[in-house]
Amino acid sequence: MEREFLSKLADRIPAHPRAPLGVGDDAAIVTTPTGRCVVSTDMLSDEVDFLLTECLPTRIGRKALAVNLSDMAAMAAKPIAAFVSVLLPETGAADLADQLSEGILKLAKEFDVALPGGDTNVWPGKLAISVTILGDPTEHGVWQRDGAKSGDAILVTGKLGGSILGKHFDFEPRVREALLLNERYEINAALDISDGFAIDLDRLAVASGLGAQVDLNSLPISRAAEQLSQRTGKTPLAHALGDGEDFELLFTASSDVAKQLLADQPLDIEIRQVGEMIPTPGLWSSDRSVNDSSLKPLAVTGFEHGN
Ligand SMILES: [Mg+2]
Repeated sequence: MEREFLSKLADRIPAHPRAPLGVGDDAAIVTTPTGRCVVSTDMLSDEVDFLLTECLPTRIGRKALAVNLSDMAAMAAKPIAAFVSVLLPETGAADLADQLSEGILKLAKEFDVALPGGDTNVWPGKLAISVTILGDPTEHGVWQRDGAKSGDAILVTGKLGGSILGKHFDFEPRVREALLLNERYEINAALDISDGFAIDLDRLAVASGLGAQVDLNSLPISRAAEQLSQRTGKTPLAHALGDGEDFELLFTASSDVAKQLLADQPLDIEIRQVGEMIPTPGLWSSDRSVNDSSLKPLAVTGFEHGN
């Protein structure tokens, strides 16, 4: 539903010189008389994104800010300030607000994000929390998802899959990692993996007018994906490909830059090359472990909003 609605809405929103990137990337870019600002907003609501009966409100507050920080990382923007709006259910509203803000304040401090405003309302419905974040594009420029070039290496930070076992709440937004990579290397396109590696890579490929070839054998599979696979009967690889909310960085760079980057390993977490951007549209897989370099269609698995 969300994608369809957004594409219709995008057609109706007139191009505006103060919002040159338009809609559809991880964040928007707004120009101001003195420069540019990167802006993103994300809303979490009870029974859609979490179950209030089953999780601590401090974790919900933290996550509401963390997903926005992750979108700043996806653009390589430095988070500056965030605004939080909350709809609180009538029962226990004050206590709930306290606990939500505890989670938000702690993470905001960690990432040096100002919290200059917001809004709190009590209503007869369920909890909803929306965060709008502003970021600075820095002197090194922003990353967009439409900048990949044919022949680019596809790179990913950290490990993938099984986030439902805990990482979907406790993930570290890759802000510091993105800023460091942007300072030292020429990255051509990027996004954060929020809905699943395969579906997000497909979005990057489509935005860049290309296809992507994934080497299944090189995908970094998390322990959580392995644990979860014992319960679900799906393979760990299927979890790494299709599970949402890993909030790792997925990005592309020329093969020369990638070679340097992989040799340097400049982050505390591992960066892996998992494939290559190709001219043929679509998502394709190869498996070098069985000496098979032929391309097979790869299912675009992941989370579709509003389904
Ligand atoms: Mg994103």
